[in-house]
Amino acid sequence: MALERLQKVIAEAGVASRRKAEKMIVAGRVRVDGKVVTQLGTKVDTFSNVTVDGEPIERESLHTYLFYKPRGVVSTANDEKGRKTVVDFFENVPYRLYPIGRLDYDTSGLLLMTNDGQLANLLMHPRNEVPKVYVAKIKGILTPEEITLLKKGVKIDNRKSAPAKVKVLKTNPKKNTQIVQLTIHEGHYHQVKRMFKAVGHLVDKLSRERYAFLDLHSLTSGQYRELTREEVDRLK
Ligand code: URA
Repeated sequence: MALERLQKVIAEAGVASRRKAEKMIVAGRVRVDGKVVTQLGTKVDTFSNVTVDGEPIERESLHTYLFYKPRGVVSTANDEKGRKTVVDFFENVPYRLYPIGRLDYDTSGLLLMTNDGQLANLLMHPRNEVPKVYVAKIKGILTPEEITLLKKGVKIDNRKSAPAKVKVLKTNPKKNTQIVQLTIHEGHYHQVKRMFKAVGHLVDKLSRERYAFLDLHSLTSGQYRELTREEVDRLK
């Protein structure tokens, strides 16, 4: 989530200089999401509603992109190890984008990138249960019992995963591997890898093929396209 100091947000909107914006804040002329804020240095979500003397200030326009994240890229804006990040792919886009949720460094596939904080919050809230479809290449071959367990929910740490859809796409008995499609609504850390691990299988390769009604369609690894307004509305 992009958080910024209130006086900076006001100054960037062209309402006043940063010094003047500070005076406006202290004087109680500024509201954030309807509440008067007089504390200097208050950080606001880039897309919270800010008014000065009751007038909304102009904010950056909102954009959301569907990105085909390659393997070997981190899903954060900065990486302490200096690895390539998903943000690096958007150098030519004039908005400060960040990912909606995360994919692991070694996971590829569909990742939404946005500067719309409200949309990101909405989609990441567990209550909203966005279905996500993953395809995993696993070591070993699932037994019918293991498939039933995955479907019902497995124990990860002290919590049970929500019911999942499981579909075996391909089995390679010679190599003792299997390609499995897993549809889940949750998005906990290493969720898919941990679900397979809970039934005794390691994930060799993982990709996310769908997010809600969106798929990668004709995109290739490293490419992106902007979502249409209709698509964004459908996500809400
Ligand atoms: N589950 C995982 O284990 N890794 C991901 O990147 C996404 C879901």
